[in-house]
Amino acid sequence: MNNTQSTELIFELSRPGRRCHRLPACDVPATQSLGDLIPSEHLAAKPPALPEVSEIDLIRHYTNLSARNMSIDTNFYPLGSCTMKYNPKRHERLAALPGFASLHPLQDDATTQGMLELLFDMQNYLAEISGLPAVSLQPAAGAQGELTALFVAAAYFRDKGETHRRKVLVPDSAHGTNPASAALAGFDTVTVKSNAKGLVDIEDLKAKLGNDVAVFMITNPNTLGLFETQIKTITDMLHAVGALVYLDGANMNAILGITRPGDFGADMQHYNVHKTFTGPHGGGGPGSGPIAVRDFLAPYLPAPVVVKDGDRFRLNFDMPKSIGRVRSFFGNVGILFRGYCYIRTLGPDGLREVSEQAVLNANYLRARVAEAFDVPHAGPCMHEFVASARNLLRERKVRAMDICKRLLDYGFHAPTVYFPLVVAEALMMEPTETESKETLDAFADTLIAIKGEDPELVRTAPHTHVITRPDEVKAAKEPVLRWTAS
Ligand SMILES: *Cc1c(COP(=O)(O)O)cnc(C)c1O
Repeated sequence: MNNTQSTELIFELSRPGRRCHRLPACDVPATQSLGDLIPSEHLAAKPPALPEVSEIDLIRHYTNLSARNMSIDTNFYPLGSCTMKYNPKRHERLAALPGFASLHPLQDDATTQGMLELLFDMQNYLAEISGLPAVSLQPAAGAQGELTALFVAAAYFRDKGETHRRKVLVPDSAHGTNPASAALAGFDTVTVKSNAKGLVDIEDLKAKLGNDVAVFMITNPNTLGLFETQIKTITDMLHAVGALVYLDGANMNAILGITRPGDFGADMQHYNVHKTFTGPHGGGGPGSGPIAVRDFLAPYLPAPVVVKDGDRFRLNFDMPKSIGRVRSFFGNVGILFRGYCYIRTLGPDGLREVSEQAVLNANYLRARVAEAFDVPHAGPCMHEFVASARNLLRERKVRAMDICKRLLDYGFHAPTVYFPLVVAEALMMEPTETESKETLDAFADTLIAIKGEDPELVRTAPHTHVITRPDEVKAAKEPVLRWTAS
């Protein structure tokens, strides 16, 4: 950004008396003064300190700010595990149709039949895709889906009198939300090691199994982008000790229409509708994390669920064993709606094609990146893969984060960095199904070029952005989002 004006906060652009608009002159008699209408103790003594700007300054300010963001609509965004795939604009148009967008969640069922039908169908599609028949659309994010499913598991075991099951097993490659959800649901978390191939170490799992295990949370394909080839053995082992298997299905992008968690032994899963079925996300939302479970777990799902009576749809609150609500109203309906559009547009064959294309793109990019970077685990990969910058750190004192920052100078969003934790200097890349070969090549060529650049240039990147290397902890913990009058 070389336009210095655009880097100023709008309040610094403020000049007394400047206006975007003028109110029309009062055309009714001013018979009453404000003091007659509002008790004087509630009246402000002076006007609020608001910025005073002209319309053109205001428009430039916000337009320039918006152009500082990287987004999937402006840049290639290979953020592994987070899945920043293209969000079809048609879904935005459909979601904005007044018949859907103007609904109020407190309307009577009789007046919301269209939306209820859509949600009912969505429950069925998610059941079909997972092979798990009972669905709750309520959780508003993947992590909340995890927590909800663990509450369901806890309620199930409580009902069976098996409260001694205190442990939740989690592989060391798992997303950080898995152990966090287990802890929040009141379980003790036990880590299971990965083997040299990046898959669950069966011996270590065996050593940790017992009748005190409630749930094994597994991600498949895992966060290294590898399919757990022993998945059926693993789920059988868990069932043999009476435990449940939870699939972290945040990222179903590699397996849609190819295999189903219910078929390989999972008892519960969550979806990230915003990752797998397109919902514009980033910056913490909005998300949608529905869960699907086996029929014996259905009674414990959050109430209400959408049911069909004859040709009418309604919300069923009559679920005496339900864990209760986990979110207001019916979940993040706007994102569920977009996911519904994606599923209906593609159909079963189209969904399978999405996965085949996502896997093909990831393997192509993996092969190109491997020309210059260490890719520690043998391929082929699924929808994503993890490269490592450990050699660069050793040889040139350039870290994975430096490479990510340098990519910004070339107009690429960074891959996911330093995750999963089991790979040193991890760069986790997920190109998604919609990127062209040209884009993948341009990205790979850039990565390879950065490897050969002056290390100092890379260590001090980015050189083309207003915000360079913020304190990420402080930015997350103490965000300054609002101007306050001094
Ligand atoms: C994104 C993600 C989650 C958490 O989903 P949120 O919607 O961000 O809460 C959980 N597990 C994996 C593997 C993920 O990629």
